Amino acid sequence: MDHFLYRDGALYAEDVPVAEIAAAVGTPFYLYSTATLLRHFTLFDDALDGMEHLVCYAMKAASNQAILATLAGAGAGMDVVSGGEYRRAKAAGVPGDRIVFSGVGKTKEEIHLALTGGIRQFNVESEPEMEMISRVASGLGMTAPITVRVNPDVDAKTHAKIATGKSENKFGIPIARAREVYAQAAALPGLDVIGIDVHIGSQLTDLGPFELAYQKVAELTETLRADGHDIRRLDLGGGLGIPYTRSNEALPLPSDYGALIRRTVGDLGCEVEIEPGRLIAGNAGIMVSKVIYLKEGEGRDFMILDGAMNDLIRPAMYEAYHDIIPVREPDAGAEQAPYDIVGPVCESGDTFAKQRMMPPVAAGDLIAFRGAGAYGAVMSSEYNSRPLIPEVLVKGDQFAVIRPRPTFDEMINRDTIPEWVEGYSAAT
Ligand SMILES: *Cc1c(COP(=O)(O)O)cnc(C)c1O
Repeated sequence: MDHFLYRDGALYAEDVPVAEIAAAVGTPFYLYSTATLLRHFTLFDDALDGMEHLVCYAMKAASNQAILATLAGAGAGMDVVSGGEYRRAKAAGVPGDRIVFSGVGKTKEEIHLALTGGIRQFNVESEPEMEMISRVASGLGMTAPITVRVNPDVDAKTHAKIATGKSENKFGIPIARAREVYAQAAALPGLDVIGIDVHIGSQLTDLGPFELAYQKVAELTETLRADGHDIRRLDLGGGLGIPYTRSNEALPLPSDYGALIRRTVGDLGCEVEIEPGRLIAGNAGIMVSKVIYLKEGEGRDFMILDGAMNDLIRPAMYEAYHDIIPVREPDAGAEQAPYDIVGPVCESGDTFAKQRMMPPVAAGDLIAFRGAGAYGAVMSSEYNSRPLIPEVLVKGDQFAVIRPRPTFDEMINRDTIPEWVEGYSAAT
């Protein structure tokens, strides 16, 4: 459920007409709903009610500080995967003891940053990384809380680019080697081995793979405890999928997921962390774009938008599907026609949808991509020298630009031309 609904023939974000925001900020832009973000966070938080837990929002899904502050204000922690994300979470007011640090290649500098700034735990992905954390922590006279990310060799049954829990993926250490690696960790100075971490992939639409993975984590908890490790925290990762089309509304809910967590690891007396990203932000955001032209092709018609693959890359990168709807509500029973919906970028990959049935739309009309809140704005680029598009947040009847559109000069003036480039004469 989200808060982007038609009302009196027009699409609203909560209590604000989307067209009014478009008139104020121009198109294209991302638009997020506070009520939807909070609703999704609360569903997870409630699903783990009664267990000691922390919902750490995987901020790589949508990392604007206004979104982070909204979620942190409701009690969320953050899962970060880079020094940049760590700094951004801190800038948004998230305390270090609510930040977990994931990712396969944490640098020495990033480890130093997190240790000195405060960290809930590092989720360690390899032995060399574990040794580096030990070295940096020891050098600072500190103790780093760590979990080891285990790779349970479970098929997440999702798109290959976002599956992470098979043995051929780059993530974590093979679960079969866990005892050995935990023994090494316990022997290293400057580390406090507090738990186990697992994350098997993204956009999982079935609970089966989670169940297999969490059962393996439960077994491993018992084994490692028998080996003498004080396993007291389980980080179960993120990955719960969202409905991108109205026809697959029957996906598992956070409450089902919570029940699964209780069933598989609930009796171990561990504190539980989860790291949802997509489910919190995905349907809490839309991308609004304008139709520039309708073009008749050979046997197919094109709808050319002012938004492009550089603004929303998911269709080009993951063959992702987004519902695309007009901002003015179509008449009931309006006849639909197929369009290839494309952006202006000079690649055929800049295609959002092929032969999509659309109600009547004219040049100049606004359309909205639903489910664009996660892995949308954060993956955008300035390809084709198109400035990054703005982000806007709605709360009730208020809206605010939370990242402005850069001017062309701001974008262009980041380049510098060395004096020795032939033909260049410095502007006078
Ligand atoms: C990407 C990622 C997540 C979030 O995945 P979603 O599918 O957005 O819920 C959580 N944990 C880790 C380690 C990740 O890399």
